Amino acid sequence: MGRSSAIECGRCFKSLPANQVLNACQCGGLLLVRYDLVSIARGWPRDELKTAPASMWRYAPVLPAEADEAITLQEGWTPLIRTAGLGRALGAENLFVKDESRNPTGSLKARGACCAVTMAHKQGIRKLTIRSVGNAPGALAAYAAAAGFETRIFMPGDVPQSNFIECKAFGATVTLVDRLPSDSATVAVDCKPDESWLDGSSLQKPYWLEGQKTMGYELAEQCDWKLPDAVVYPCGTGIGLIGIWKAFEEMQELGWIGSARPQMVAVQATGCQPIVRAFEQNAAETERWNNAHTVADGLRVPKPISDFLVLRAIRESHGTAIAISEEEMLDAALLMSTSAGIFAGPEGGACVAAAKRLLKTGFLKSTHCIVLFNTGSGRKYLEAFSTRFPRHAISEQDKLGGLITPR
Ligand SMILES: *Cc1c(COP(=O)(O)O)cnc(C)c1O
Ligand SMILES: [Zn+2]
Repeated sequence: MGRSSAIECGRCFKSLPANQVLNACQCGGLLLVRYDLVSIARGWPRDELKTAPASMWRYAPVLPAEADEAITLQEGWTPLIRTAGLGRALGAENLFVKDESRNPTGSLKARGACCAVTMAHKQGIRKLTIRSVGNAPGALAAYAAAAGFETRIFMPGDVPQSNFIECKAFGATVTLVDRLPSDSATVAVDCKPDESWLDGSSLQKPYWLEGQKTMGYELAEQCDWKLPDAVVYPCGTGIGLIGIWKAFEEMQELGWIGSARPQMVAVQATGCQPIVRAFEQNAAETERWNNAHTVADGLRVPKPISDFLVLRAIRESHGTAIAISEEEMLDAALLMSTSAGIFAGPEGGACVAAAKRLLKTGFLKSTHCIVLFNTGSGRKYLEAFSTRFPRHAISEQDKLGGLITPR
């Protein structure tokens, strides 16, 4: 079986030994796990996937751990759903939704969390600390629970109930704070992260990306090894988009796909759109977005570490970057819900709104095969959606209208 042969910085290309606890490169760049794909290809024909496990571990030869070492909750291998109803509503004949809300803990974060916790466990770590918002802490807490880790989480006091309660439910010690401590050293003295802790605060770690990249492998396999014309993906840290792009490159080296790539569309929120701004200004990197705000927690990343790789993938694929307003993303999430039966989160909604706009301008063609990512379940954002569905007590009129049969 092929295992990771080295870890390489995506920015300065420095090479580091594989199989150690790592964060970002000293230059600040994103670290990427490299494999000896030529020898892996020899022992791993594509056809073997017919009997592979129904999880992201079906691609174990290009992951940093063996399938039987994985702390797994059966993450990944999510369905690619053809949604004729949503397609009609948007004017697209071949529209698909990659439904990541089916993952453990209801979002794509399960993939990265699984891989990160698996590697930490393999390296003897048994403690996890996180300073973060959104779906990451819950996903990490779930895998930490499965691995038997002790978990300490710091999150802002105004996080959605679902994010807070799921961490508590997984047995984590949760501290609500006014402002997130900006670095590990300022976290409470009793859990100062060092080599004995996995610091899950930033997701800019090589093994997290390896989990996220399996979305790209699945996409190819589910499209019968012919990639779609366009991939519309909600971009926060950008790790997901880069992971998908890395999977395409690896699969080409494995001889599984050709050199054609989908147009990569990065979707952000108008309240936090550093990638969109850099794309429009033709810049190689982003500048920090001030006063970042959006209900789409997955998109609230003011300065994505991997920005230059995201921008490069968008440009090389003749894609684009587009920002969506709060109202638009909630409307569009509900459009996916009502027309496809998938209760999308605001990030998935943002992808629907982006596709709609790009189909209208002709950037995307109605005959194109378009894949939208629904990265998280709407069930995790009930506070955001409750503004759309105020609850009324049953009125006398409803009773008189025969909706309620008096007893
Ligand atoms: C984290 C997250 C994203 C963004 O993914 P990145 O890989 O950080 O770009 C999108 N949607 C949801 C629901 C998320 O939790
Ligand atoms: Zn570097």
